[in-house]
Amino acid sequence: WKNLPPTLRSVVEAGRIHGDKVFLVYEDERVTYEAFYRAVARFALELQAQGLKKGDRVAIIMRNLPEWPVAFYAAASMGAIVTPLNAWWTGPELEYGLTDSGSRFAILDTGSYGRLVEHLPNCPDLQRIYVSREIDEIAHPQVTKLETVIGAANDWIKLPNQPIPPAEIDTDDDATIFYTSGTTGKPKGALATHRAVNSNIMAGAASGARAFLRRGETAPAPDPSAPQRSSLISVPFFHATGCFAVLNPSLIGGAKLVMMHKWDVIRAFELIEREKIQSAGGVPTIAWQLIEHPLREKYDLSSLESVAYGGAPSAPELVRKIKETFPKSAAGNGWGMTETCATVTTHGAEDYANRPDSCGPAVPVSELQIRDPADGVTVLTPNVVGELWANGPQIVKGYWNKPEATAQTFVDGWVRTGDLARVDEEGFCFIIDRAKDMLIRGGENIYCIEVENVLYDHPAVMDAAVVGIVHRTLGEEPGAVVTLKPGATATEAELRAHVAEHLAAFKVPVKVKFWHETLPRNANGKILKNELKKLFEEDAATA
Ligand code: ATP
Ligand code: MG
Repeated sequence: WKNLPPTLRSVVEAGRIHGDKVFLVYEDERVTYEAFYRAVARFALELQAQGLKKGDRVAIIMRNLPEWPVAFYAAASMGAIVTPLNAWWTGPELEYGLTDSGSRFAILDTGSYGRLVEHLPNCPDLQRIYVSREIDEIAHPQVTKLETVIGAANDWIKLPNQPIPPAEIDTDDDATIFYTSGTTGKPKGALATHRAVNSNIMAGAASGARAFLRRGETAPAPDPSAPQRSSLISVPFFHATGCFAVLNPSLIGGAKLVMMHKWDVIRAFELIEREKIQSAGGVPTIAWQLIEHPLREKYDLSSLESVAYGGAPSAPELVRKIKETFPKSAAGNGWGMTETCATVTTHGAEDYANRPDSCGPAVPVSELQIRDPADGVTVLTPNVVGELWANGPQIVKGYWNKPEATAQTFVDGWVRTGDLARVDEEGFCFIIDRAKDMLIRGGENIYCIEVENVLYDHPAVMDAAVVGIVHRTLGEEPGAVVTLKPGATATEAELRAHVAEHLAAFKVPVKVKFWHETLPRNANGKILKNELKKLFEEDAATA
């Protein structure tokens, strides 16, 4: 028995105990826990042979493929700082991520490689590049085809049975740099230690235990005949949620993780039916599509037990809709940021049904405070809206390469979130809006989320976003962009009247525009409001 410090290396070593259970499913590829461990060990050996040193940044630029977690745990187990980048980024954005992090190694999928290749001369720190899957021609001397090192996923079980090579890693060493979504500015690299990353796993387990305590129940004894837990991962591994809230706990818990390369609701229905998926979700839009899609009836989705999401505001309505559509299912919500390695609050079961507009209480390892946004110091009393601050062992150390932003955001172990919220007497947190997503119309505050939630309540509305339209004297006015459900109809006047029935007149959108498909979102489910604002700016320009 040897002491296993809480590091990502321990996570992958612990996962190996699940042996020949299936860990990853991707299309017709199935990777067992043992096969996965062998691929990780093989790739770790390769990185060592290529001269990887402790603290080197290793970039992963792939959509969800079985190779993503292999690269992630192999690099982290060898003491590297793993730096996942958004695999949808353009060439110049990838160049920013690689040069900002100073990555020495990069593991890419074919699409990202294609976008990056002409920018490689501008990334002088990069020494070795691995490219996965369909790549015929490699013109670059530093590029290796990943399959020549680890083989195809279905063959990983045939790799030599050897351990991950030894490496000295301390719990307080740096482990990952995940980039923020870039909703409010340029993405920032959030630097997390192994302790921070592992605290998230502990926090998840502890919140599960707390739910039983609150209900005064004891947890049922594990049932050895119960089927293996299976989850659908439809959000990317390269954001904190996919990696910390889904991948890590699945590996520790011996779950089957069914991967989607890219979100597609019909494909999700097929996979839920074929793999008897119990947990699906990720972001609120995904939950809405699972509920509302007219072809849902054609599939057997009766295995679903949990539809959980976070990362973006969700309408209170969603909780009831999930219960109605999937009676065996519980809705779940969680609030977190890249800066908190994902989860800080979790919400579920009857707590969520009773407070459908909350994102839950803080996980047992964290505390929340609402402070006066004006000074960032004064702590406000329960139910007063102010800026949300959070602390806990899962908060990152700071931003990579950005001392000023770090000093503004991380103060005495607390992170300033930029979200406006209130916390009630029992500790339940209610996100009101992003501080930057609030409009001031002639001195009156309008929280976009409040207006969006009323629009979601209208039976014809599938998707809604409220943005500020610049106004010469009032500053800003609210404008709405909505998508209607397939086959449903509603006019601009009807929707404005619907909002007017529920909210003060100054909050009623002055214009409602109809969008032909799902609103444009980034990979994390956040609506690209800047794109939508342009719709109204174009009007103003032609007026
Ligand atoms: P950037 O910081 O680069 O502007 P970002 O804040 O969108 O981008 P993330 O770290 O991915 O990057 O997202 C964190 C934010 O997501 C939170 O600050 C909050 O605004 C929003 N969020 C997360 N979970 C929830 C939730 N359950 N309900 C409402 N909003 C949420
Ligand atoms: Mg942010």
